[in-house]
Amino acid sequence: MNDRTISLWQKIKKNLKEELPEASFETWVGNLEVDALQGSKMQLSAPSGFIKRGFEERYLELTKEQIKNLSGKSREVVVKVDSPPVEENQDQRDPFYPPPVSSTDPTNGEEKQNNCSADGTRENQIALNKQYTFDTFVNSKSNQLASAASRAISEAPAEAYNPLFIYSKVGLGKTHLLHAIGNYLYNRGSLGKVVYTTSERFAIEMIQAIRQNRTEEFRQRYRSVSAFLLDDVQFMENKEGTQEELFHTFNELYGNKKQIALTSDRPPQELSDLQNRLVSRFRWGLVADIQPPNFETRVAILRKKALQKDLKVDDQVLELIASRITTNVRALEGGLIKAVAQANLANGKLTLDEIKNFLPDESTGEEELTVSKIKKKVANNYGVKPETIDGKSRKKEIARARHIAIYLARELTDNSFPSLGNKFGGRDHSTVMHSHKKVKNMIAETPLFSEEIEEIKRGLKSNFTQ
Ligand code: ADP
Ligand code: MG
Repeated sequence: MNDRTISLWQKIKKNLKEELPEASFETWVGNLEVDALQGSKMQLSAPSGFIKRGFEERYLELTKEQIKNLSGKSREVVVKVDSPPVEENQDQRDPFYPPPVSSTDPTNGEEKQNNCSADGTRENQIALNKQYTFDTFVNSKSNQLASAASRAISEAPAEAYNPLFIYSKVGLGKTHLLHAIGNYLYNRGSLGKVVYTTSERFAIEMIQAIRQNRTEEFRQRYRSVSAFLLDDVQFMENKEGTQEELFHTFNELYGNKKQIALTSDRPPQELSDLQNRLVSRFRWGLVADIQPPNFETRVAILRKKALQKDLKVDDQVLELIASRITTNVRALEGGLIKAVAQANLANGKLTLDEIKNFLPDESTGEEELTVSKIKKKVANNYGVKPETIDGKSRKKEIARARHIAIYLARELTDNSFPSLGNKFGGRDHSTVMHSHKKVKNMIAETPLFSEEIEEIKRGLKSNFTQ
């Protein structure tokens, strides 16, 4: 294949990336590669049938348009499905590789007791938490890809992405999403056994199985499932035997087209004490991260949690908690419960200042940059009234300020186009996209204008954190 073909496809991808919401791009276009450009045909390859179909339904026409614009020629686009690489050197040893039992293995007697019922049969299955569903999960830009991919594999197990690998710092929703996948599949019924477990539990069970000569039973339990959800794989680092077993479990499930989803506190390539062949398998499907939520998302999560727990809490209190606790959703929830408990003790009469006293303060002291602050700054800058930005006026200076505010809001906050549409007077997302593009083009074409926008950006950035 020649360089021109590759470069044409790269340009198409770049343009689509700019036009599409990030998660849509990552899900449907990001993993496609170009195979050939022959005559009137461009041939692409997709990692799965699911992605091929999704792409064809959504973006085939758009891609054809791009080809025509960029190369001046109309072409058909054909997508074929690429099978994942089969690694050489597949290990044929007895998969039940006896692990070295080290003192760090968490296999003390107490755990064992907990895992055994009176008649000696094990009750290892970790129950799915019914509260952790997609409905109770707040979507935001910070978790967009992980959340969309979790939904996709729930709807089309072993078709969309296999495996799905989600990573993030602690308390940002990985376990929640794994349970949500489990609950969804479980409620759907038809599929067969869905198993959720943690890596620690997997390791403990495996060692017990060896001690009790029940290895076959253990192996069967995990290799006969239709979906395997494994939490916190970083705990498998340095556990050779457990990794060995996971490797064979993975191969068996993957080969039989069963869904695998994993989580970790790091991306696969940073799991340095894990066998390379496991790390490479973890990267076969989709790797998605979750970042800490922004202020607006934190408030939305608190609102949802309060509703779920049937707590009545003022918006002002929710906003105070969200401004104080910024990096961990679990801590955010803790803050809410504490605030409610304290308020109950004081018969509901707590001032915001009193609540402040018992909340940790992770805020940087700087205020977060929001869409409404951008609107104000831009309105000020161009001498128009802030409320006209959301309005319908087509007066030149107002329309111009509106376009600029939209552009900056997209660049400096993590709002999607549809959400910006809502925040700019209920406009359609395509209208907002158009404004963004317009300003972007003007910046590219007019150095003076570009300088003007940079100036506003600097002003905004010096006062607020993004
Ligand atoms: P992790 O596994 O990444 O450490 P968890 O999934 O245990 O984090 O999440 C910690 C808490 O935060 C849970 O109660 C979970 O429901 C909640 N949580 C995290 N992210 C979200 C979100 N986007 N929407 C709703 N709740 C969330
Ligand atoms: Mg977790």
